[in-house]
Amino acid sequence: MAEPIVLICELADAPRMVAGSIFDRKCALCGTAVMIAPSGQRILRSGPVQIVCAPCFIAAKVPGNGKPTAVRISPIDELLRELENTQPNQRRHRN
Ligand SMILES: [Zn+2]
Repeated sequence: MAEPIVLICELADAPRMVAGSIFDRKCALCGTAVMIAPSGQRILRSGPVQIVCAPCFIAAKVPGNGKPTAVRISPIDELLRELENTQPNQRRHRN
């Protein structure tokens, strides 16, 4: 069986967001609401994905008991374009 793909996501209340992000998903490990930019949404549609928030990923609370796990990042040009075009997160204090 293929390793689960882990999609690393920013928290839903991050200061900035990418236009077109969705906010209806949660981290599989801690349950915190995350935001998913359009590039990540495309990865979501590509097959089974485990959503992990950035703090959990940084804290190494990644699945697989320490074994290497497939981590998917967006195509780098798309990612850079999204990062260059962030805007204040207007959803920040709504949840
Ligand atoms: Zn988390």
